[in-house]
Amino acid sequence: MKTRPEIPCEVCGYPRTFLAGLQWCSNCGWNRQTALSRLRLRSRIMAGVAACIVIGEAFLLRTIPRMGIFYLPLAGFLAAAVAIIPYREYLSLQRTSPVANNCPSPEVVASKLQRLKPQLRTSALLLLVLASVTDIGLFLAPGPWVDRIYSVGMLVAIVFFGRVLVMERRIAASYASTLARIVRFERRGRRGRTAIYEYEPPAGIPMTAKGSSLAAFSVGMTVPVLYNALSPDQSLPVPDFIFYRIGVEPPE
Ligand SMILES: [Zn+2]
Repeated sequence: MKTRPEIPCEVCGYPRTFLAGLQWCSNCGWNRQTALSRLRLRSRIMAGVAACIVIGEAFLLRTIPRMGIFYLPLAGFLAAAVAIIPYREYLSLQRTSPVANNCPSPEVVASKLQRLKPQLRTSALLLLVLASVTDIGLFLAPGPWVDRIYSVGMLVAIVFFGRVLVMERRIAASYASTLARIVRFERRGRRGRTAIYEYEPPAGIPMTAKGSSLAAFSVGMTVPVLYNALSPDQSLPVPDFIFYRIGVEPPE
């Protein structure tokens, strides 16, 4: 069975575009303005990061010329990539103009959104395994204990992502998909937020759960959710999955 790695737009059913934690529809323009302003902000921040790399490299060239020359190609490449890629992504969204020419009925969109299927992202899993192996190696390497602060910090991150993987696996092992509605956002820290969403498993009581910040969403929007059919209180919004790619299962 083939799965397409795409999630339909909640307005017109055309595949959504996902980029940098954002999503929008290039067909009907759903969420395009939010995505555009965030991509613009991102490209400005990344230009600042590129400037810092250039300044750092210039400083290195002045103080330790030998090291500076050694790192020159890397710094140049990094600064160019960091500055150019986000800017091009912003430009390419700005250039596309939405044309709603493909408008299936809301029922078709809803039925597509309810036929989602998770697929393990092997690359993310490999990255976690690689990080674990590297970290164990660093930790066991001889040397003073102070040198291990870095590997302990990395271990905390590995444990965090390992727990995310276990939770996602539990949902993916016996998943069912449904549409949830975002009811509110809770503030977390100064700029962070947590999405509170509601969904109703068939023949079950309505559930309320917490997601991540769901940057591309606002209150009242629907978000596709996968939940554990065996314990329907365990769920995750589709954009929150890290180790699984969620695609639409074609009808038989
Ligand atoms: Zn659309």
